[in-house]
Amino acid sequence: MAAMLKLENVSHAYLGGQGTALAVEDVNLDVLPGEFVSLVGPSGCGKTTILNMLAGLFPPSRGLVLLDGKPVQGPNVRVGYMLQQDYLFPWRTIKSNSMIGFEIRGEQTRDAESKVLELLAELGLDGSADRYPHELSGGMRQRVSLVRTLAGDPDVLLLDEPFSALDMHIKLQLEELVWQTLRKRGKTAVLVTHDLQEAAAMSDKVVVLAANPGRVERVVTVPESIRQAGPEAARKLSDFEQLVEQLWTQVAGKEPDPAGGAANGQ
Ligand code: ADP
Ligand code: MG
Repeated sequence: MAAMLKLENVSHAYLGGQGTALAVEDVNLDVLPGEFVSLVGPSGCGKTTILNMLAGLFPPSRGLVLLDGKPVQGPNVRVGYMLQQDYLFPWRTIKSNSMIGFEIRGEQTRDAESKVLELLAELGLDGSADRYPHELSGGMRQRVSLVRTLAGDPDVLLLDEPFSALDMHIKLQLEELVWQTLRKRGKTAVLVTHDLQEAAAMSDKVVVLAANPGRVERVVTVPESIRQAGPEAARKLSDFEQLVEQLWTQVAGKEPDPAGGAANGQ
């Protein structure tokens, strides 16, 4: 199957006062249509940089970023981006916030509006369409943010730590809701998270990155039983802890390095 998203030998350096700093070095990544991929790794290993390049916010210094086989040349309506902060406009109602994508594209049709109202209902927000962001809990606001991202019907969703500011039980609920919603629609997703359990519970594969410079350390394929289960059920499966353990070992860099390099042998 051809990749929906592809990074080919991608490196990125930021220009700064002290010269250039290499944030990401020679990253290769394939995300298949409908696949859910997580990026994990220490702070500063280039997770957000990679998502931003996938979103077309800036081009890589070197290498290729491809969406459905074509070079990404800027933001694309086929790619939605959801962040940790919800960036809802406080002076707009939930419905009006959810309509922003259509508004920007001059597509505020009745169809668009009913689609947004349907999505709000599906995500349990039907009673909140005319309320304002400050009247909603953090979890509800993130659901609005998801509605807004899904409203334009993107093929790909990029999610940068969308659950990390939430209380544990709300976070678990949202993981399940997001997973179910994306899977039902066959969306392709790339999630950045520092929560290895979350990555294990939601993903088809987990890309472990290393820092300085950011690079792919390993790609862990999630066992079929866990992939099929959905996050809540996945956490209860017998091989789940083992998967989390495996990710933990790799992120912590405790595995013996086959090249005989930086292993610390703990
Ligand atoms: P992560 O999301 O994994 O924490 P980032 O992609 O944000 O990592 O950052 C990767 C590296 O690039 C870090 O060393 C960070 O300091 C640097 N960096 C990120 N954004 C910028 C920027 N706008 N200008 C300069 N350096 C940046
Ligand atoms: Mg980041």
